[in-house]
Amino acid sequence: MEIKILGTGGFSNDGSFYNCFAIDGHLLAETPPDILQSLRASSIPLEDIDTILISHFHGDHCFGLPFLLFNMFLRKKTKQTTRPPTRLIAPPGVREWMRTLLGLAISPDHPYIEWAFSNFEIVEMEEGRRYRLPKGLWLEFSRSYHSPETFSILAGNAGEENPAFIATSDTRWGPAIETLAKKGARLLLCDSGGAKPGDVHMSPEDIREHILPGMADTARLLATHYAGRRVSEGRLEYAKAGDLFLI
Ligand SMILES: [Zn+2]
Ligand SMILES: [Zn+2]
Repeated sequence: MEIKILGTGGFSNDGSFYNCFAIDGHLLAETPPDILQSLRASSIPLEDIDTILISHFHGDHCFGLPFLLFNMFLRKKTKQTTRPPTRLIAPPGVREWMRTLLGLAISPDHPYIEWAFSNFEIVEMEEGRRYRLPKGLWLEFSRSYHSPETFSILAGNAGEENPAFIATSDTRWGPAIETLAKKGARLLLCDSGGAKPGDVHMSPEDIREHILPGMADTARLLATHYAGRRVSEGRLEYAKAGDLFLI
């Protein structure tokens, strides 16, 4: 499995690419406002994306969806591709939310909206259900501690029971996140936007105290969703746009 980090910024942002990553070059997790810019910087063509995940409906994770879909719409209109429909997997309520957002971004009657609804298989995330995708990948989702409803992302290779990769998504610390750390993933991408324990986002101290001790010695932890300069220290490493991991 190949994990590529496209960006690490959150709402509090110093101008870095917003948080986003890709799996195996065809699954895109999050569609932040600068998604077209970060895809280009990471050399991922829009045509390669067959699955889009959105962990929750905060703007730093999804306000780029209209720009992404509009540009997919323009390209597909002219190219007549024969690819199967693209999947969009997001929290419950995604259809109503998507219609509102896409309508606000251009206008409610723009044809890219109907194009998106007829060309995408739109799936609501369900905690604990295993979603088997083509190309040998499975996904599971688990609720994190964040408002609105937010899901951590677990990704595994077909034939392997444990996830190879987990992204906590936005969350404060809580027992469900500690459980994720013990699931045997080889790479954990972890929210680190908080300054101190108990903040809305996990803090470096939360990670050191609750997450790292549960992880296997060979597993790596990458902190994300931060602003400003951060220095990796010991097992607490900070992700950077452009990082690539083969796990
Ligand atoms: Zn966020
Ligand atoms: Zn959020």
